[in-house]
Amino acid sequence: MSFVASVFKERQVSILHCSFCRQVLCTRGMKAELLGGTDEEMFSTDIPPTDSVDLVGSCYYFKACQCKLKNIACLRCGNEVGYHVVAPCYPCLLSCNNGHLWMFHSQFVFSKNRMDKSGMYTLLWKDLSDTDEKHEGMLGLHEDEHEVYLR
Ligand SMILES: [Zn+2]
Ligand SMILES: [Zn+2]
Repeated sequence: MSFVASVFKERQVSILHCSFCRQVLCTRGMKAELLGGTDEEMFSTDIPPTDSVDLVGSCYYFKACQCKLKNIACLRCGNEVGYHVVAPCYPCLLSCNNGHLWMFHSQFVFSKNRMDKSGMYTLLWKDLSDTDEKHEGMLGLHEDEHEVYLR
């Protein structure tokens, strides 16, 4: 997991819930850096949360740059809760990013700290990535997808 900057590994892992129907959207949420041009708080995740959300509408471009986005909606209640970065723009690819392409708006989700097995301590990202094999497989798939888009 060398491409994930160490600064992200010290972040806490959040469990994200849909604020409309309260279902769990994702168990690997990270509080995101504020993106250029916005002051909105976001959460992000790395694994496509396809069990809980679906892509809706058509693609559009992020205001501050040329990242190609598509909104995502909660599968249970149908409300839009965030967006997926379908194709990151070149400056964003070059800048320090955590490789997370699934974003949730903080006003549409609520988060809880994910605890470790003992239930005593909040889980950090560095605790996750070394043990979650499924995670690495999914990221591999993801990179292939991008190559196709960027060609
Ligand atoms: Zn919902
Ligand atoms: Zn961008």
